[in-house]
Amino acid sequence: MQRIPGDTLDINRKKRAQTPSLEIEDRLPTLRICDFEEVRIPFTPEQAMYEASRCIECPDPAACVRACPVNNDIPSAMWLISQGEFLEAAKIYRETSSLPEICGRVCPHDKLCEGSCVQGKHDDPVATGALEAFVIDYERKYGEIDLSVPEPVGQKVAIVGSGPSGLSAAEQLMKRGYQVTIFDSKPQMGGLLLYGIPNFKLDKNVVYDRIEEICQLGLEFVGNTMIGKDKSVDDLLNEGFDAVYLAVGTWVDAPMDIPGENLPGVYKGTEYLIRNNVCDDLFPKDLDPNTITGKKIVVIGGGDTASDCLRTAVRMEADEVTCIYRRTENEMPGSAKDRKLAMEEGASYQFLTQPVKFIANEKGHLSKVECIRMELGEPDASGRRRPVAVEGSNFILEADIAVLALGYWPDETIGKSDPDIETHKWGLIVADENQATSKEGVFAGGDAVTGPQLVVTAMRAGRKAAASIDRYLMQKRGIVLEE
Ligand code: SF4
Repeated sequence: MQRIPGDTLDINRKKRAQTPSLEIEDRLPTLRICDFEEVRIPFTPEQAMYEASRCIECPDPAACVRACPVNNDIPSAMWLISQGEFLEAAKIYRETSSLPEICGRVCPHDKLCEGSCVQGKHDDPVATGALEAFVIDYERKYGEIDLSVPEPVGQKVAIVGSGPSGLSAAEQLMKRGYQVTIFDSKPQMGGLLLYGIPNFKLDKNVVYDRIEEICQLGLEFVGNTMIGKDKSVDDLLNEGFDAVYLAVGTWVDAPMDIPGENLPGVYKGTEYLIRNNVCDDLFPKDLDPNTITGKKIVVIGGGDTASDCLRTAVRMEADEVTCIYRRTENEMPGSAKDRKLAMEEGASYQFLTQPVKFIANEKGHLSKVECIRMELGEPDASGRRRPVAVEGSNFILEADIAVLALGYWPDETIGKSDPDIETHKWGLIVADENQATSKEGVFAGGDAVTGPQLVVTAMRAGRKAAASIDRYLMQKRGIVLEE
């Protein structure tokens, strides 16, 4: 039976609703902390069919579709998977997503598609994220990915930044006939996907495979080149690029601003993750390539980067790995699933705790973190209750490594180098609803515009920017567009 989106299928919804969830297995914590391999055990085809058959095919617009930032047609995909039509299901995802195998792995599903699944009201939600990753992995193994491009239109686009937004924009532009070159300050493409997300969450081979496919569309890459420093946006326009898309992300680690922050042994989250997760040939030229190891590791922060650092520390054979967070677990912004995995793997948490000083030993290296207990006061501007220090509650935690995972700020380099590109708040680039900046021919999107968000929202911005750039360049070619 063919499911046409919007159709009401003749299925037994009650039976589907009562089908118990598949016990989705992760590798055992004792085994997975011994390596950096992915934690999730992939579905077998039979398991995928079973799990997808739990979807009750909600009528349009299904809650999961609305909750997905790129509005993947999840019910149609679930229907096809339940019928064993994996390659057809993969096509559904490719219509709306440029990175389905990656989003299937790293989206915070519990807050997006799976969080809105009606099955989740009485059982586990349908595992739509893992099923998305499954069908794309299956397609890569047994199917054929459409790598065709149309006749060149004769115009060139420069993309600055090769993370999820830049890669998605590149794919979409090349599929419209544009010649695309990506510039990145790092030696390899991938941005956050390669340098920011550990292998145990997103296997680097998955990223390499997707980059390889996008390269086969005709992409050129210029690494080790920082736009705004080594070359300006005007240089790109003067070199003959007809449009520029700025997708530089947010890479500046937020500081802690307490005494001892610059001691040896205190690291920024980005440096800690790159040095412990990335192999030598991918190393940025300005970074020490040695791994960072210690016995007692303290990670400060409550987001996904904090979970990634904790889980990396466990795998680097630390004896004690502790997360310090100034509010309670309820206010933590990071994924609950990642936190659960970190706890299973041996990380411990000190909630309502704030570091006040990093203390050195006689050799000048970090040896202790002085902390203070907090309690929750009145809500602040964000609506979350403000943490307030409890006077006299200071205590000491032993630590030879501290990692600051406090969030990210934008890099001001491009905005400062080009006064025609309007920026605001700490250097975020101003872009309108079409991703156009204040400078003619220059577009921007992803975290560099919104501040740190998700891989899937960065990807969505890249696809939207590609459509806007296409319209802009068609007009430059003299094509009159209908309103
Ligand atoms: Fe869910 Fe993310 Fe896939 Fe959308 S892109 S269906 S939110 S996993």
